[in-house]
Amino acid sequence: MIEKKIFLSEKDIPKQWYNLMADMPTPVLPPLGPDGKPITPDMLAPVFPMNLIEQEVSTDRWIDIPEEILEILYRWRPSPLRRAVYLEKYLQTPAKIYYKDESVSPAGSHKTNTAVAQAWYNKQFGIKKLTTETGAGQWGSALSFACNLIGLECKVYMVRVSFDQKPLRKAMMQTWGGTCISSPSDKTEIGRKILKEIPDTPGSLGIAISEAIEDAVKDKSGETRYSLGSVLNHVLLHQTIIGLEAKKQLEIAGEKKVDVIIGCAGGGSNFAGLSFPFVLDKINGTKIDIIPVEPEACPKMTKGLFSYDFGDCAGMTPLMAMYSLGHGFIPPPIHAGGLRYHGMAPLVSQAIVEGLLAPRAYNQVKCYESALLWAKTEGTICAPETSHAIACTIDEALKAKEEGKEKTILFNYSGHGLMDLLGYERFLAGKLVPYVLSSEEIAVSIDKIKGQPKAEIRKSGKW
Ligand SMILES: *Cc1c(COP(=O)(O)O)cnc(C)c1O
Repeated sequence: MIEKKIFLSEKDIPKQWYNLMADMPTPVLPPLGPDGKPITPDMLAPVFPMNLIEQEVSTDRWIDIPEEILEILYRWRPSPLRRAVYLEKYLQTPAKIYYKDESVSPAGSHKTNTAVAQAWYNKQFGIKKLTTETGAGQWGSALSFACNLIGLECKVYMVRVSFDQKPLRKAMMQTWGGTCISSPSDKTEIGRKILKEIPDTPGSLGIAISEAIEDAVKDKSGETRYSLGSVLNHVLLHQTIIGLEAKKQLEIAGEKKVDVIIGCAGGGSNFAGLSFPFVLDKINGTKIDIIPVEPEACPKMTKGLFSYDFGDCAGMTPLMAMYSLGHGFIPPPIHAGGLRYHGMAPLVSQAIVEGLLAPRAYNQVKCYESALLWAKTEGTICAPETSHAIACTIDEALKAKEEGKEKTILFNYSGHGLMDLLGYERFLAGKLVPYVLSSEEIAVSIDKIKGQPKAEIRKSGKW
């Protein structure tokens, strides 16, 4: 009989995070300040606590996970590794499909992994309040959950289109003691400015980030910091517990090798969390296809420019070397709110430049079709973001069938969709459009960042 769920005992939970910065064949380009020079850690101090800044710039390969963080993670970790036998059977594929089930966390996605870690490090540093942004509401929920357990105040700026589409997310944040505000809001200078210029804007993650940073740095008591749910090195680091657990679980399942790794990618954190420990294997010579999947409505990896660009709309963050559609880009209002971000994590971007990753894009109609097939075979209802990984997994499983190869596929089931049923309703009613952007629309936004410092393409040429 085939085991459908592979559990890891709590005592075998990974005790260290894996830092890909230590093993990148060519290092990530440094973030730049307003003067075009590399920033120093103290320049980030008004925004992040120093202990997290140290992690952000660390090149240590392994970083210990504090015991108190593990104590909280045990509530749902180690998460199960599952095998999608029912989907395999439906597709009649020789491929074995495994997935890491991050939907079992209290807030329903992988984001709780870094929320707990970030809240804990901020508390250690003496911080009393965190501000943040949220797209679909997953990150705001996760941080509210973590702040409540650790004893911090939490204020969330939620992208307006999602705030309107998903009102129950606000209730979720409030249940854990968080505050949730629709962004752009009249609470910040940048919010007021954008509301004046584009009163009916759907908002974007870039705008919400600007508002949350402005709010944090304006608190003169020095007791407020900002927290980001993706993109940054330390966030990706905290998520590597996913891939490290998966490695141990695949071994328990008797798998010697993985052929394909897949994750949806908004800012890159759940994808990186699952894949980075396997990227190390690839650097060391193992043959693996590693695929980050994005929406065709926000195609920074497949159609964006590798450039220095800001992480937010107002240009308050340092310039980061990354694949970007331009920081002013406002993506169409697709339901996968967590994938509506204009840039990709610098560490993931550099791995793409190296040729270690092979990004792909799907439109939301194809993704919802895949989500429905998943629900009808495996039974669970996935987050709209996760459906991008499932669409790619189905394609890869069908390719294995064509080739007659018994491949092993692993993907990240980043979250459940039980708070996102509006998107399903609209899809079922035939009201969703694919939202494929034209090259012209993309060019308009990218042209605006062409004056930014050039990000040099550096690669070893091995992949
Ligand atoms: C936020 C989110 C994503 C996208 O963010 P990443 O940082 O790219 O992982 C994907 N899936 C779910 C369920 C999310 O909540």
